[in-house]
Amino acid sequence: MASAGLLKGSVIAERIKEEIRSRIGKLGFRPALAGIQVGDNAAAESYTQMQSRLASALGFEYRLHRLAAKTSLEELKRLIVKLNEDPAVNGIIVQKPLPNEIDYLAAVCEIAPFKDVEGMHPYNIGHMFFPRPRIVPCTPAAVMELIKLSGVRLEGREAVLIGHSEIVGRPLALLLLDKLATVTVCHIGTHSAGKLEEHVGRAEILVVAVGKAGIIKGKWIREQAVVIDVGINRSNGRIVGDVETEEAAARASWITPVPGGVGPVTAAILMRNFLEAASMQKKQSRDS
Ligand code: NAD
Repeated sequence: MASAGLLKGSVIAERIKEEIRSRIGKLGFRPALAGIQVGDNAAAESYTQMQSRLASALGFEYRLHRLAAKTSLEELKRLIVKLNEDPAVNGIIVQKPLPNEIDYLAAVCEIAPFKDVEGMHPYNIGHMFFPRPRIVPCTPAAVMELIKLSGVRLEGREAVLIGHSEIVGRPLALLLLDKLATVTVCHIGTHSAGKLEEHVGRAEILVVAVGKAGIIKGKWIREQAVVIDVGINRSNGRIVGDVETEEAAARASWITPVPGGVGPVTAAILMRNFLEAASMQKKQSRDS
């Protein structure tokens, strides 16, 4: 049985890291990235550790600010304002998940847009409506890199997204539209209406970001589709995606592995966004 080619994230991640290493020397200073973690959620802990490791390996400074789980939104905002005003800090990440009492949008709105390296401030999201986006959210940008690696042209193609979250589906729909793909965005409502299989079956490019192991059945996949599985789930002690990988690989032309697909590219793009933010800040301070 034919099997899809694997879109390995490490290939792109290594290229991006090489590009960062070659540019960092020209910056003339060691930029500092500030992570803010509220409480001790295990997922948030593993993301901040990963950011710290990657930033250090690339020669960036990483400063983690740990706040107690009972921190109020006002206290969190005060820290963000302090970091905004600190010229020695070039990028800020408010690590999700936050405790339920803290509104993520309210927190992210406080970050100075030019230090918002995750590209989630409404200023950066808003710019995605126009041809020259500013800082683009990392996971959607990673998905676009993986599609590019497949060599498949997007113009006029049926691109189907499963998941409409602020961090993946919605911004990704804009990036795909920009490449003239015909975009369908599915979500929990599509599932409740019993229409997931129908939409998946039309997809020439399928991107799944739900967070439920194996929700997309391999037999639904269109022959020769490109399948990008963003999902990260723990199942029987293993990390798996949202797509039944083996069955899907028998039909698809290209598929991302989980782990090792979208994740490493997302992390590398975060660092690239940070370097670009630091470079822009340097240029602005020189010009002013
Ligand atoms: P989210 O919970 O914010 O959004 C989930 C989306 O899935 C929503 O649009 C929801 O309507 C939809 N959905 C829920 N149940 C559904 C169903 N049964 N059928 C169809 N749609 C359904 O999640 P998120 O933050 O976008 O993350 C989604 C997944 O992607 C998670 O597993 C997360 O860990 C992973 N993720 C991975 C990366 C990476 O870099 N690899 C980055 C971000 C998120």
